[in-house]
Amino acid sequence: MSVELPGPLPTRAAMLLATHEQLRALTENVPVSLACFDARSLCCVCANTRFARLVGGEPASLIGKHCVEIVGEKIAETARLRVDQMCAERQQIKFDYCLQRPGYDDTWFDVHLVPDFGKTGEVTFCYVLMTNTTSHRTATRQAHETAERLRKFMEASTEGMVFHDGGKIVDVNPPLLRMLDYRFEDIVGESPLKFIALDAQAEAVAAMAVSRETTYDSALIHRNGSRIPVQFSSRNLLWDGKVVRMSIVRDMTERVADAARIHFLAMHDSLTGLANRTQLMERLALLLEGAGATRTQLAVLFIDIDHFKRINDSLGHAAGDELLVTFAERLKTECGDGALLSRLGGDEFVVIQKLSVSHDQTAAFARRLLDALAEPINIQGRRMVVTASIGIARFPDDGHSGDSLLKNADAAMYLAKSQGRATFRFFDASLAQAADQALAIETQLGDAIRNQEFELFYQPQLSEPDGVLIGVEALIRWRHPVLGLIGPAQFIAVAEGLQLIVAIGQWVLDEALAQVLTWKSAGWPEPRVAVNLSSAQFRASSFVESVLAALRRHGLKGENLELELTERMLMDESDDAAATQATLAALTAAGISVAIDDFGTGYSSLSHLRTLPIDRLKIDQSFVREIVDSRDCFAITEATIRLASSLGILTIAEGVETEAQRAILRQMHVHATQGFLIARPMSSGDFERWLQTAKFA
Ligand code: C2E
Ligand code: MG
Ligand code: MG
Repeated sequence: MSVELPGPLPTRAAMLLATHEQLRALTENVPVSLACFDARSLCCVCANTRFARLVGGEPASLIGKHCVEIVGEKIAETARLRVDQMCAERQQIKFDYCLQRPGYDDTWFDVHLVPDFGKTGEVTFCYVLMTNTTSHRTATRQAHETAERLRKFMEASTEGMVFHDGGKIVDVNPPLLRMLDYRFEDIVGESPLKFIALDAQAEAVAAMAVSRETTYDSALIHRNGSRIPVQFSSRNLLWDGKVVRMSIVRDMTERVADAARIHFLAMHDSLTGLANRTQLMERLALLLEGAGATRTQLAVLFIDIDHFKRINDSLGHAAGDELLVTFAERLKTECGDGALLSRLGGDEFVVIQKLSVSHDQTAAFARRLLDALAEPINIQGRRMVVTASIGIARFPDDGHSGDSLLKNADAAMYLAKSQGRATFRFFDASLAQAADQALAIETQLGDAIRNQEFELFYQPQLSEPDGVLIGVEALIRWRHPVLGLIGPAQFIAVAEGLQLIVAIGQWVLDEALAQVLTWKSAGWPEPRVAVNLSSAQFRASSFVESVLAALRRHGLKGENLELELTERMLMDESDDAAATQATLAALTAAGISVAIDDFGTGYSSLSHLRTLPIDRLKIDQSFVREIVDSRDCFAITEATIRLASSLGILTIAEGVETEAQRAILRQMHVHATQGFLIARPMSSGDFERWLQTAKFA
């Protein structure tokens, strides 16, 4: 840059000249566009390269050029006004200037016009210093916009927001103020911890110490001192040029209440409000852990309402619910704090005696519960007495886990039911064995035929009063490889449920007829076997045909067979009466006799039976058992025998065990007897040996 200064040089200029080279370097290197114009003519005196490039030229080419030539008329006009202002004010002036050029982004400058005074004191030169402020301006504008956006966001947000820096709150939004019921000035400048619940402060301090984003549950304290469950999401943020911590504060009051409600529903029975199975099992597991550690005892009482289904069916579900609620209340009163009460569902309640208790104390407690439940109750205006049965299992004797204790208490409850209800029973190991056995029977029954595990036992029937063998009843047994000999009472009903009974019945018929053939061949003139039927067999459409086919297979006559039906099979209302009649007629026509088993336990009337082709009534053993002691049993048996005889139906008394019973039955002119007095049911071999030694004719 060459500077040609007018007039004699002042001392300062002399110094500048002396360091001309440094000055040149300085003007070329400062980040400022620099030029000097004659204040009056506006012709360029000198300029640095940065200035020259800005206006599109080289420093040398600008010297002497008029401002209009350099920047054009429009800018020159503005420049003129500014320079005039500077001259008038006689001091440097500063203004922003935006350079707009086609094809370029706007460029902003910070422009300083600095006057240089001549000897006379008037302004001779004007120094122009232009600093490019475009990037600074953009950054400032952006920061400003960000802050503005944030502010709008803070105000619009429904969630609370707080900014804190160096342990002090610097800003909060209106929602947070509303949440806490404070004014802006109450909060700003304070420590955030002042508003956080004491027990949540440690976590908050830890979260504030980290710079990464964190989300955690916490609690604030309202101005009135109440606690507000919140969730904080905190992160670092650039705010007004510095890094501050910002937290979004979510009010969790409703969500916490919802969660509590959901938890309550998940853990309680909705009808009675008692603990439900889930809660029971959770708490029982804890109690057992404690009892195991302290070697104490614990009792599980399984309570089931007697005949609840009957109440529900006859009075309706609303009445059933009312009863359950009343029972729940009564149990609650009796249980107090020492016991955990729950409803498993249906009419089942479970009480856990939590404190170590003796066997006798538990028994007394169960008795108290039963007494309380058996108090008369008013349901829908009806006064009634409803009882319950209780089964008890004790820790550690009867089980170690909640599941096993509950299962065993349940088994004991069934025992209480089977022994007359309205009572309680303690679990004992034989009950568990019975349950295991029932399971084994159910799972293995299907294979028993194939494995040839069934056997028939035979029980003789003697005519009265002469004692002639008139036939045998075939009674099935299952010789189980592990459980030993199992009676029909334990598996016939199961077989019926599993639809195995028709196949088993077919096996029985075949086996019994095969045996009869053997006896016949051995010299017993006309043996007759009585076979028990199940209703599924009797109702099968091919029933008669399958019986006749079996007789043919063994070359036997109908007279060799008697079929035992129960009253219920004949009376079943769902059955087609005409079909029953036809089946019986077909059997009778083939010479097969028909006996009604367990007579007197069903609801049939003799007048109805009269219409059916029936040969024999088997008087149920329950009448025979009490015939000596009960006037009723005596009278019923006597009337049955008399009426049957008058209708031409034979009678046989089952379950005769004593001579006294037999004597009475003989007096009543029963036609035959069967029972332990004569012989127990026996295997075919035993029966044959019995035949040899029997004293009958
Ligand atoms: P049920 O037909 O009434 O048979 C008489 C039951 O009384 C037999 O029991 C017999 O052992 C028993 N009993 C005989 N005499 C006396 C006595 O003097 N005192 C006492 N207390 N009991 C006596 P079991 O063999 O246990 O059979 C029970 C029931 O199982 C039978 O009652 C019958 O209904 C059914 N059942 C037996 N075998 C079969 C079968 O092959 N098929 C079908 N469907 N049911 C069968
Ligand atoms: Mg029978
Ligand atoms: Mg019977």
